[in-house]
Amino acid sequence: MTGTTDLIKLTAAETAAKIASGEVTAVQVTEAHLARIAAVDEKVHAFLHVDREGALAQARAVDDKRARGEKLGPLAGVPLALKDIFTTKGVPTTVGSKLLEGWIPPYDATLTQRLKAADVIILGKTNMDEFAMGSSTENSAYGPTGNPWDLTRIPGGSGGGSSAALASYQAVLAIGTDTGGSIRQPAAVTGTVGVKPTYGGVSRYGMVAFSSSLDQGGPCARTVLDAALLHEAIAGYDPLDSTSIDAPVPSVVEAARNGNVAGLRVGVVKEFGGEGYQAGVMQRFNESVELLREIGAEIVEISCPSFDLALAAYYLIAPSECSSNLARFDAMRYGLRVGDDGTRSAEDVTALSREAGFGDEVKRRIMLGTYALSSGYYDAYYGSAQKVRTLITRDFEKAFESVDVLISPTTPTTAFPIGERADDPMAMYLADLCTIPSNLAGNAAMSLPCGLAPEDGLPVGLQIIAPAMADDRLYRVGAAVEAAFIARWGHRLLEEAPSL
Ligand code: GLN
Repeated sequence: MTGTTDLIKLTAAETAAKIASGEVTAVQVTEAHLARIAAVDEKVHAFLHVDREGALAQARAVDDKRARGEKLGPLAGVPLALKDIFTTKGVPTTVGSKLLEGWIPPYDATLTQRLKAADVIILGKTNMDEFAMGSSTENSAYGPTGNPWDLTRIPGGSGGGSSAALASYQAVLAIGTDTGGSIRQPAAVTGTVGVKPTYGGVSRYGMVAFSSSLDQGGPCARTVLDAALLHEAIAGYDPLDSTSIDAPVPSVVEAARNGNVAGLRVGVVKEFGGEGYQAGVMQRFNESVELLREIGAEIVEISCPSFDLALAAYYLIAPSECSSNLARFDAMRYGLRVGDDGTRSAEDVTALSREAGFGDEVKRRIMLGTYALSSGYYDAYYGSAQKVRTLITRDFEKAFESVDVLISPTTPTTAFPIGERADDPMAMYLADLCTIPSNLAGNAAMSLPCGLAPEDGLPVGLQIIAPAMADDRLYRVGAAVEAAFIARWGHRLLEEAPSL
């Protein structure tokens, strides 16, 4: 019999194999994770809601299926932490906001449905920056999440709850969403793996909208193979999402099982590095470049000059789309309603509810976006930002003519202390400097651990970027890099994290 501690440390692939072979039951695996949550989440605060009964019911269904001799899918019985931005029928969905406190969605997001169809066990909903706006999870209306490596530091954002759940062994898999980096940056600062699939690769139906042309759901895991298994479970065409890609899903699992960079051309983005980057981050990144060379990749330096404008363009486009998307929270259809005492107009109730329900960062973005879209300013701001977006896409196109993938550090620094950037939006925005271009261009990108920064002993992420619809390349390269690092260290990076 495998002990409880061993059960929480398994990979998803191992967990599913043990359940399929009957060595353990899905209920045992689920109970082990629920016990772990009960033991550590008071300290970490990764979850906003734990669906104990729902998870156990799902686990029993998996065990029943097996008892009946039905074939189990590759992730059957594996516990997962779901970012609280996806609707879950009958289970609260808050998006980290007071505005949706207590809202129980009447339907499942397509992604939620696919997880259930794959017999993945949904443990609960994870903490996040309100409406996915932030890089630290400090913008959650329900309080911050701690980084399991050091609970006084941020776990990244906006999906800090998902990354922290993985790094503290409360879940084997997790789901995030990445509008400007919210899957990759949390992965980088917690020593886990996160992938932003090609835009349109995973359905947005039932994923609360922040910036529709940038938002992308994707997999989070502790290993590259686990991320690939989850990627295949959630990806693929959905007629309910008008921007969903109607084409076969890239063979990411096969790629993850065949990690190899021999003869591959890897471009190092020249614009990402140097001033403003933590020395230890650059050291680990440069070592990753050397490692890639050692295992057979050809390294080329690539310049993408318009990446310097990406942050500015993003902070016009994302707020603009958010100002429009968040207009639906009018206190009439769902969520918080304030001041509805029979004396006030509907407009006043809407205004009072939005005033009370939205946090400062959300309000800042709605104001910024409304201003940028107003007539007279539209061309100067939103129009210019869209032009920059085209330039960035062209830089990528040109780069991918001469290289197969691009690499960079995922973030300029390791996890910063909770509170350090809370009152400084500009400093906060810089955390996504290296991740934003891929959202603007819609291509695919991954972050995986590449070591600990010597000065603070905290994880550093390596970003790999591939052209749209070439998500498999991320996994092929990622798996090769991961295997080479494990061979060098003798274990996974996460094993160096202090135990909670
Ligand atoms: N940190 C970025 C922002 O605040 C990205 C957020 C995200 O990817 N959801 O907008």
